[in-house]
Amino acid sequence: MNSILVNYEYCTGCRSCELACRNELGLTAGQSGIVITEVGPIEFNADIGLAGEPYDWVYMPVLTRACNLCETRSQQGKLPSCVQSCQAWCMYFGEPQKLVTKIDGKTRWALLGK
Ligand code: SF4
Ligand code: SF4
Repeated sequence: MNSILVNYEYCTGCRSCELACRNELGLTAGQSGIVITEVGPIEFNADIGLAGEPYDWVYMPVLTRACNLCETRSQQGKLPSCVQSCQAWCMYFGEPQKLVTKIDGKTRWALLGK
C-alpha cells in the first residue's frame, strides 16, 4: 500500500492538487479527493523561540473519502495526479516506510494514506 507524504511547510495553498484530482476523478466543483485546509494566521508571543517571526500561517492537504490513491495511474507506474500537479514539489508518493525517511526534523510533514 502506498501513501502520500506532504512537506506542508512548503505548501502554497495554490489548490492545483484539488483541481487535478477533480479532473482525474471526474468530480464537479466543490468536490475532490484532496482538500486544502488553512490554519492561521496565528500570532504567537515571543516566548516560544520564534523571535523575528512570531507568526504561523500554513496550508495542509487532507484526503477525502473520494481519494482512491490514483489506483489506475499507480498500476501504470504514474504518479497520482495531485502529486504530479504540485508546483511546490512538496508532495511525494510511495511506500510509507521509504517516504518517512525524508522527514528531516526541521520542517513540518504529514503522511496521508488510507
Ligand atoms: S491520489 Fe489521486 S484520487 Fe487521491 S487525492 Fe490525489 S489525485 Fe485525487
Ligand atoms: S498543489 Fe502542492 S502547493 Fe498547491 S495546494 Fe496542493 S499541495 Fe499545496
